[in-house]
Formats: sequence, C-alpha cells, structure tokens
Amino acid sequence: MTNLKILYEQMGISEKVLKLSEEIEESLKDRFAAIDKVTEYNQMKVLGAMQRNKLSEAHFAGTTGYGYNDIGRETLEKVYADIFHTQAALVRPQITCGTHALYLALSSILRPGDELISPVGKPYDTMEEIIGIRKSTGSLAEFDVSYKQVELLEDGSFDYDGIKQAISDKTKMMTIQRSKGYLTRPTFSVKQIGELISFIKGINPEIICMVDNCYGEFVDIIEPSDVGADMVVGSLIKNPGGGLAPIGGYICGTKECVDKAYYRLTAPGLGSEVGATLGVTKDFFQGLFNAPQVVNGALKGAIFAANLYEHLGFECTPNASEPRHDIIQAITFHDPEKIVAFCEGIQYAAPVDSYVTPTPWAMPGYDCDVIMAAGAFISGASIELSADAPMHEPYTVYFQGGLSYDHARFGIMKSLARLEEKGLVSP
Ligand SMILES: *Cc1c(COP(=O)(O)O)cnc(C)c1O
Repeated sequence: MTNLKILYEQMGISEKVLKLSEEIEESLKDRFAAIDKVTEYNQMKVLGAMQRNKLSEAHFAGTTGYGYNDIGRETLEKVYADIFHTQAALVRPQITCGTHALYLALSSILRPGDELISPVGKPYDTMEEIIGIRKSTGSLAEFDVSYKQVELLEDGSFDYDGIKQAISDKTKMMTIQRSKGYLTRPTFSVKQIGELISFIKGINPEIICMVDNCYGEFVDIIEPSDVGADMVVGSLIKNPGGGLAPIGGYICGTKECVDKAYYRLTAPGLGSEVGATLGVTKDFFQGLFNAPQVVNGALKGAIFAANLYEHLGFECTPNASEPRHDIIQAITFHDPEKIVAFCEGIQYAAPVDSYVTPTPWAMPGYDCDVIMAAGAFISGASIELSADAPMHEPYTVYFQGGLSYDHARFGIMKSLARLEEKGLVSP
C-alpha cells in the first residue's frame, strides 16, 4: 500500500471510495486545465488592482471609533472598484453577512411607492423576509415597496414577455440572482445576465439593476458589473473573502448607487466617512488576493462531486459536464437519510469541529428545518468546505467550498464514505 492509501484509510476512506475517486479525477484533467486559465486571469486582475492602487503595509493598520480617514479602508474600496470595473465600492466589516448586504443595497435605492421586480423567479430564502414575501418586521413591504416576480420559463430561460409586461411606471429596481441558491434552477452566466440587463434597460434605462453575486465571484473572467449591472452585491465569507475575511460584504456599482448605500449603512450626512476597520483590513486584502485560487479549488471540488455522484446515479445540478457559473453543487437524493449522511460526512472532513454530528434545525431566515455541515475557521463561512440541505422534498443537498481542491475532494470522499458506512450507497 502506498503511504497515501494508508493515510486515507486512517482518515476513514475505504479502498473502494479511493479507487472510484481516483478514476473520476483522472477523467477531469481537461476541465481542470480550463479552470486554471480563468484563475490565472483573475489572479492577475486582482494583483494588478492592488499594484495600481499602491497597496502598502501602512494600509493594514486599523482604525477605531469613528474611523475617519481610514486609508486602508479607502484603498480596499478602490481595489474592489478596480476589480469590478465600477465607479465606486463599499466594502466593510459593518456589513454582517450577504443577506445584510442585499438588504442594504435594496433599501438604499427603494423609496415608498417604488416597485421591485425579480425577473428570475423566487429569490434566495432570506430575501423573502427582506422583501416581505414572508411577513417580517422591517421588510421593504412595511415601507410600502411593492414586489413582483416573473418566473423563469420551463427550460430555465428568462420570460422576456412576462418581464416586459411586469414593468410599470413604479418599477425602480430589479434584483437578479446569479446563483441558484436553494433551488435546482440553473445558475446564470454573466453573459446571460448581461442580455437580461440590456433587455430591461431597453425598456427603461432608469431601472436600477442589482445582481446578487453570491458564490459567483471569480468563476468567470467577467463580473455582472462588466455587463451593465448598476450594483453587484456579495458576501465576504464567500468567494471574495478568500477564506480569510472574518466578516463583511461588498457593494460595487455606480457612484450614485454606492453613495446611497453609504448613507443607508451609516447615516444621512455621514455616508462613507465613518466606519472603523478594527484591524480586519489585512485579512480583507489577503483574502481577496487568495480568492481566485480558493475559487479554483472550490470549483474543481464541485465538478468532482457532480461527476462522482452522477456516476453513482444521483441527479446533479449542474450536471457532470455542464459549464459552471458558481461554486455550488446541488445533489438530489430524494431521501432524508441520505442528505443527513452526506452532511455528516462533510462535517467529519472538516478541520474544525470534525467530531460533532450535525442535525437539522430551524435556522433563522429559513421556512423549514435545515441541516448544515460547517467545520470552518470562520463561523458559517461557506467558502470553506460546507453543505446545507433544507429538509423537504426533493431532499437536495447544496455542497460548496473548500479552501483548497484537496480539501474539497476529501470532503466529497468522506460524504461517500459516510453513505457507504450507513449502507445507503455502495461505491
Ligand atoms: C449566501 C447567499 C445569500 C445570503 O448570504 P448570507 O451571508 O448567508 O446572509 C444570498 N443570496 C445568495 C444567492 C446566496 O448564495
């Protein structure tokens, strides 16, 4: 036996699981090489932005209190704007998570009487409470912002006629979610999002198009802001934080939109001037620098997962051979026991809390029990190896992350090992 085989055996991976994994990996060489090319491009894009903005050690010193004249924060926001090719950016630890960043973006633009449209069907679960689709304190609905959604067509494409009909004089803003979230619909490519935005702007160029970019950053060489989005929004405990950002979110966009977000985040009259960074700036920069590589590993892990589980007869979205536009892999088991075992395996593969067993619970923001596997350095960071599954039909698990490909692949091997151990799947 090779040393690696012995090591894997000690880590709970049977010879069968290892052999199958090696075969699957062998078949993916060309796809992995194509991902490496995207990463190379994005690594240079990020590095170039840091160099052009003269990033220096002095920027890593944090501020406290009001945080006036925080040059690290100002440089960080310039670097983000440079990477996303936008006029401005807001990137701050005061944004607590992705949902908060999205709420900030929407509530900074929308005023009473305005209408918001999702032209891509149902948005991410936590958006339901933001919008007021589910009654909730502080929702946009409470502020008299109305909402419509236009479902996708059966083949997953945009319903252009429906979108045109839905747009009214009151339509102020569109929320366009790039990634599938907790759905099995396809994730959109940046190019598709560009076509959608052009169509909307063709009807009324004043409509603000916001893209929820969660999980999409650095998967492609262009971002939604390169194809007409007025605001691009995401979480720093996902792709662009590179596993190092301990908190935070970003909004990149036009100066007018980002300024409004500053005033909404802090207070009218204060805007971007306040907001101490408390010593997180270096991690924001270093995480951003690492992000293209981290996304590379996560993408390869997702493709590995799709190929392995499709081989075993399970339905994967995206499937084994489809192109990728985000780092999420959905695998449908149609069986609560299997999704629990899958998540247990992911948890047992973690560097942190690998000895605990996850169980389904009623998480805030979700309308049913959810099981989550996350043994992360940054609590809840889903750029780290993680899996979530809402406990209802069709019992689909959403797998994402892994700060390196080796870890992502091991997580998947371990999920299969757990399914094997419980007699639910035979590799
Ligand atoms: C993760 C995610 C969010 C919400 O981010 P949190 O950090 O979990 O609040 C919103 N939209 C999409 C598409 C996401 O993937």
